[in-house]
Amino acid sequence: MDTIFKPANEHTILQAAALLRQGELVAFPTETVYGLGADALNEKAVAHIFAAKGRPGDNPLIVHVADKSQLDDLCEVTPDAEKLMDAFWPGPLTILLKKKPAVPDITTAGLPSVAVRCPDHPVALALLRESRVPVAAPSANRSGRPSPTTASHVYEDMNGRIAMILQGGDCRVGVESTVLDMTKDVPCILRPGAVTKEMVISVLGRCTVADSVMRPLKEGEAAPSPGMKHRHYAPRASMTVYIGNREKVIAEICRRYDEAENAVILALDGDIPSFGERHVLSIGTSPEETAHLLFKRLRETDEMGVSLVLAQGWEGEEMVLAVMNRMARAAAFDVIKL
Ligand code: AMP
Ligand code: MG
Repeated sequence: MDTIFKPANEHTILQAAALLRQGELVAFPTETVYGLGADALNEKAVAHIFAAKGRPGDNPLIVHVADKSQLDDLCEVTPDAEKLMDAFWPGPLTILLKKKPAVPDITTAGLPSVAVRCPDHPVALALLRESRVPVAAPSANRSGRPSPTTASHVYEDMNGRIAMILQGGDCRVGVESTVLDMTKDVPCILRPGAVTKEMVISVLGRCTVADSVMRPLKEGEAAPSPGMKHRHYAPRASMTVYIGNREKVIAEICRRYDEAENAVILALDGDIPSFGERHVLSIGTSPEETAHLLFKRLRETDEMGVSLVLAQGWEGEEMVLAVMNRMARAAAFDVIKL
């Protein structure tokens, strides 16, 4: 299949919307990462998403809408969920709600809930409005690779596999949306993102975070969110993340680097001079900047063919949770506190 690879504009967005209505796959930019979209109500089209990504069939998709009025046929919107939509949509918050029969089982991997979100990106919103269908869209990477935050990342993974890629520059946030389960008594974050627990509490007065967010699942433990049990975000190299005392972290990273054959360091900007002549890639000066850069850097380490990635991590709350959730998974939970 020849994949159309074009900058998003009025004309190409109409072309992409027509392809979606015909049951084809279209990748498009959002504020979090690039999504790989199909008509969420078309079983065949959704099956193509799983095939194109090599995604396990038990990992449900997020359904994207242009606004909350499009949810009527898809799910049961509770008053609390509506408050969150009014506060954070369009934006990086995915809400799990009881699904209605119109949503095919393949879209939700057979679960009774459906994940819904309205993305905060002009291209995504225009595409959703023009297509007039709810769009199931996971991240537009091959399963197991870091999520794509530029159109060229999507091209690397999806050229020849899908009908079209709409180019729309770098994604602002850089990590996937917060996944919030609103089907339980207390709202629970299953995947941390840029809409934080504190932000949900400011609207609803309560919110918890699933404790499996920052640790591997135990043998036989059920995943609260199916995506959590699959290998995720990983670079090809092995990776260790260091947190804690700054001087000790820098010294230990230098020691491991010097011992290794072919390593690279992911460093916070201010500390780069401390690593001297060693090979360093910047992960910015704030958790927000690290979120924006992380997946791009992980793909660069793949291209460089290094065998070891040594990364400085963050400690703290809010956006730190989203960043460290991705870093910990990329490192297969090899996170060391010094
Ligand atoms: P992706 O769009 O690739 O970032 O993946 C979407 C993620 O949302 C999945 O990996 C799941 O963990 C989560 N998700 C989507 N729908 C549901 C659902 N109905 N129940 C629990 N988790 C869900
Ligand atoms: Mg994904």
